[in-house]
Amino acid sequence: MLKQSGLSCYVCSNQEELRREIAKGAGCVLMAEEALPHNRAVTWDDLFGPEPAWSQLPVVLLLARGHAQKELALLRTIEKRPSIGFIERPTQKRSLISALKNAIEARRLQYAIRDALDALQTANRRKDEFLAVLAHELRNPLAVISAAIHIKKRRSADRDDDMLSAIERQTQQLTRIVDDLLEVSRISRGKLELHKERVDLVALVREVFEKGADKLQGGKHRKQFYAPSTELFIEGDPIRLGQVFSNLLNNAAKYTADVGAIDVTVTQDGRSAVVIVKDTGVGIPPEMITRIFDIFTQVDRNLGRAQGGIGVGLSLTRSLVTLHGGTIEARSGGADKGSEFIVRLPLSEAPDASNVEPAQDTNERRASQTKLLVVDDDHLVGKLTGELIASFGMEVRVVPGGAEALEVIPNFQPRIVFVDLGMPGMDGYETVRRIRQLPGGDSLFIAALSGWGQAEDFERSAQAGFDRHFVKPIKISELENLFASELPA
Ligand code: ADP
Repeated sequence: MLKQSGLSCYVCSNQEELRREIAKGAGCVLMAEEALPHNRAVTWDDLFGPEPAWSQLPVVLLLARGHAQKELALLRTIEKRPSIGFIERPTQKRSLISALKNAIEARRLQYAIRDALDALQTANRRKDEFLAVLAHELRNPLAVISAAIHIKKRRSADRDDDMLSAIERQTQQLTRIVDDLLEVSRISRGKLELHKERVDLVALVREVFEKGADKLQGGKHRKQFYAPSTELFIEGDPIRLGQVFSNLLNNAAKYTADVGAIDVTVTQDGRSAVVIVKDTGVGIPPEMITRIFDIFTQVDRNLGRAQGGIGVGLSLTRSLVTLHGGTIEARSGGADKGSEFIVRLPLSEAPDASNVEPAQDTNERRASQTKLLVVDDDHLVGKLTGELIASFGMEVRVVPGGAEALEVIPNFQPRIVFVDLGMPGMDGYETVRRIRQLPGGDSLFIAALSGWGQAEDFERSAQAGFDRHFVKPIKISELENLFASELPA
């Protein structure tokens, strides 16, 4: 009868068949009450299969005359579903057909929503992938530019070369945007790992307040730091937490005129450490107070852009706080009424072990040489990295590949070797494995230099035998730290 009315149907004779046909994409299910299982424990999911968020499978149940089995527990639960329709037998052909056609139409809309959601997800994934690739591709040219500026500055007789300083500042700004983009896409793909340790939040925030957050340091705001005289320990990744507070303090400085004030308070509230960054700046309108944490959202695009931002900072900040098990909220009395950002982080439960320093390892490693070897197939990148290191007063050799490195090391006897990962022929991983097999290769400090800096990249390079993994462009401060810990003073 249904076929005659233009409906294509498939008759299922058991539950498995039913679930299979639904999963294939059924328009609706027409079921006789007698086909419902008598077992009380059977659920909707057992019968029809699990439903994704977009789905409300339409089921038309043909009830026996007088609702014979209405005591059934299952019937009672499915009665509550909005997508279920009941038709009592005997029924008119017309009512049945129209009920089924309505159900199929409802299902068609659900499938349209499913397809739209799939398309959105795909587009979102592509955007993330695009951002990751874009940021990665921008890193190499940025590495070259940064290194070139640094060398030029060191060589230049005119230490206060304005133009060079401007290029340097803009390049740092670009590097920061690229890093932020890469990190946001990493977080949204669940690929950012925290390296947690016991951190005194008071000291960390004070450090950012006094020396970090370049926009705050560059501004002329009245600024105050309030904190308890005791430490507040949390389990966190100091680098990421530094980013969190540097973002908030830079924003406070960006969105507050120089005549304004910026107050930072670190305090304890129950089992939480609380950091409040308060400014007297442009404020945030009420309708934007939660939206500003969404990526690429700026209250005033002109103002935001003029401040050199693209609306990524707060989104990154919120993700990093959440990864630490904390929360962040914004408050403001409205436009021109100033803003307040409140970060809560769970205090550490573990006993104090902060004085245990893992210094032994590095002491053992200290050797007397200050010779360094750079292995990079990109001539320009290799040359500039070499010159950058040489500008620290080190003796540097640059070779274009793993084979050359293996030849040079026994005679040159470097203390530290930097190896680019993506090289033709013998790649960085193979190179480090082979270097480790050389006499004395075990005790060499070998660092990977790569455009890729995702958790699995760090893991892979560590497994291959690298001591460290630096993401290009390697920062001057990273080199300073490395030389301070790995080379004699
Ligand atoms: P960006 O500063 O790069 O635009 P953010 O994600 O850091 O991006 O901030 C998003 C938006 O939130 C900013 O564009 C600004 O409109 C608003 N905002 C952030 N911090 C403040 C603040 N302290 N005072 C007023 N508005 C702010």
